[in-house]
Amino acid sequence: MSATAPADTPDTNAAPHGPAHSPGETDSAEIKRLFDAQLDTAMTLRRSSARERIAKLKRLRALMFERREDIMAACHADFAKPAAEVEVTEILPVVEEAHHAMRKLKSWMKPERKRPTLLMLGTSARVINEPRGRCLIISPWNYPINLSFGPLVSAIAAGNTVILKPSELTPNCAQLMAEMIGELFDETEVAVVQGAVETSQSLLALPFDHMFFTGSPAVGKIVMRAAAEHLSSITLELGGKSPVIVDASANLTNAARTLVWGKFANNGQTCIAPDYVYVHEDVRQAFVEECINALDKLYGKTEGRAANGDYCRIVNQRHYERVRGLLDDARERGAQLATGDVPANDDRYVAPTLLTDVGDDARIMEEEIFGPLLPILTYRDLDAAIARINARPKPLALYIYAKDQGVIDQVVATTSAGGTCINTAMLHFLHGQLPFGGVNNSGIGNSHGHAGFKAFSHERSVLQDRFSLAFLFRPPYNAFTRWFIRFSVRWLS
Ligand code: NAD
Repeated sequence: MSATAPADTPDTNAAPHGPAHSPGETDSAEIKRLFDAQLDTAMTLRRSSARERIAKLKRLRALMFERREDIMAACHADFAKPAAEVEVTEILPVVEEAHHAMRKLKSWMKPERKRPTLLMLGTSARVINEPRGRCLIISPWNYPINLSFGPLVSAIAAGNTVILKPSELTPNCAQLMAEMIGELFDETEVAVVQGAVETSQSLLALPFDHMFFTGSPAVGKIVMRAAAEHLSSITLELGGKSPVIVDASANLTNAARTLVWGKFANNGQTCIAPDYVYVHEDVRQAFVEECINALDKLYGKTEGRAANGDYCRIVNQRHYERVRGLLDDARERGAQLATGDVPANDDRYVAPTLLTDVGDDARIMEEEIFGPLLPILTYRDLDAAIARINARPKPLALYIYAKDQGVIDQVVATTSAGGTCINTAMLHFLHGQLPFGGVNNSGIGNSHGHAGFKAFSHERSVLQDRFSLAFLFRPPYNAFTRWFIRFSVRWLS
């Protein structure tokens, strides 16, 4: 049964003077209906077995494969995303996530026995992972399928119901996901609700057991405030400015190749894209040249890049103007263009751009770039570069390029970030055994693999008394119980 609630269907609950929702939004009454309808299923799913959940994941995984051409077409229609990039960054991570969960689910679901501590001798205890219940997933547009279906895999593995709201900025992907979910699930188990801010806010007004949000820190705060109203648990996968340190000891060719790929894939619209680089002064020139060579290898020569089908586009005109604004502002404040800014007969094309001599006062050094512009700054003193990184909010990712282990250890020990790659970029996202998430401004909680399963589970402690001595801690406090309590305190002190 289709779980889609397209916004422009006739609204039977409409107020006499017009619909209760704006065009493109889903009516709040429809959202409430879906939420209520999922209650019974959430209760039933508590008792679902690993085998039943695995069967659902298997169907989702198979459908991803069957509909891969449609996924590619939707991503292309939304932001000209190259087909191969869709396979690598939208389809592969989801099928891998499902594959991993299917293999591990039995062990993840097993209650974890806990040995008694001294005070609790005579009890048996275990931790069970119970489903959180009714979950909400709100996703962004930049990896529309991956960041919707990835968390969905974890939510299903953990035995929850889900209402998923994809981003309105990638409407073709949102519509496709609604169709796919409608094919696989009854709306009482998983439903896709389409819409923008108004729809999101109607959803956030409901007492979901868990809210899993991926998006900007600014909207993350709105989600956290809404969750506070119901004390819903939350996972916030946010963004920010992810720095890179390129030490003088680094293999510059490798650094340039991996960074250029990490930066310009998806047109720089990646939460863990390298946002800005601190390169050691002595190797700056060589590093910039290596980056230019790497760009030639990835996307061909400068003039032909706009026509290269492997290069994605900015998602919409508003974001195009935002990115152009950052570039123009940086140049007005003295930034030099190492490469980029080639005019093209294309509304949403921004050439892969490397900037040097970027001033700290430029806007590009304040906000998350989320586009194909890479400021390359220099340092001489590593401590000073680290201090400048630490002066900003904690990033989602931090990348280190060095052969000198001392430098690597120093950077890891003296900074904080959601995740770090050494001598490569972005690969930690694809490692199913690593928790993926941010820290403070870049996020709260983790996703992926076991961490994703745990995000959608409540760790419930279950203690069973067999022959414990707990009765000796209760009144009446006679001479013997007082002696026993004092003895226990002394014994453990
Ligand atoms: P966004 O925060 O603007 O939107 C995300 C979702 O929130 C969308 O579904 C949108 O409809 C909804 N939304 C927007 N405004 C809202 C409001 N006022 N109230 C309630 N809901 C609202 O983010 P975006 O532009 O779609 O994505 C880009 C951001 O997401 C970047 O900051 C990026 O770093 C971050 N991101 C993080 C991760 C991660 O895994 N940590 C992954 C991808 C993107």
